[in-house]
Amino acid sequence: MDAVQMATSPWTWQIAPAPLVRGGPMRVVLMGPPGAGKGTQAKTVADMVGVAHVASGDLFRESVKRGDELGRRFKEYMDRGVLVPDDLTVQVVMERLARDDSRDSFILDGFPRSLGQAEALDDVLGADGRAIDLVINLTVPEETLLARLAGRWLCRACHTSYHTLYSPPIVEGVCDRCGGELYQRIDDREDTARHRLEIYREETTPAVDYYRDRGILCEVPGDRPRDVVTRTLTEAIRQRPA
Ligand SMILES: [Zn+2]
Repeated sequence: MDAVQMATSPWTWQIAPAPLVRGGPMRVVLMGPPGAGKGTQAKTVADMVGVAHVASGDLFRESVKRGDELGRRFKEYMDRGVLVPDDLTVQVVMERLARDDSRDSFILDGFPRSLGQAEALDDVLGADGRAIDLVINLTVPEETLLARLAGRWLCRACHTSYHTLYSPPIVEGVCDRCGGELYQRIDDREDTARHRLEIYREETTPAVDYYRDRGILCEVPGDRPRDVVTRTLTEAIRQRPA
């Protein structure tokens, strides 16, 4: 009976964006380690609440594609495989946040990721009376992140890709298709993933502490079904400090 009622009442399946959102500016930072699903959530939540999704990685790529001065400098760093320095990152993000669609409301994704970047962001926003309202930290247990990041295996013979969590082979270590041996690339190995997570924590923990001290940090568990995480994030934004 319930199932029939739900099926004939389509509105019960929808989340109405407008009433969920408190009025006024909505300047939100979404933080989270590699493997937490931050990028996907940032995009979904930004669409739902109707604000710009500003991802620093996208800004780098767009700038490189345009081939402008900033883009040429980004490309140099990316080609050398090193992190883009803070001042350049801050510059490209602030240019984006000066546009009309993101002056008052945005969800920042991938930035800031260090204390230096967080302070620089506050300085530049503060110069014209703006401020971050809410910082959400997506938290996922280390072992879950490792399983997600280090789960990929490839067949040596036919190059079919498997994932121990999402698409495991029938027999461990053996390709379903051709019986070939499965192996992990260095990027997909557990020690590489562990190292990535260590670097992330070293870099971002001071920034997370900085926002916690300012009383605008909210921690959201990211190891739940994707739609539950989306709802929790939307709720956190709705209840953000005034
Ligand atoms: Zn194979």
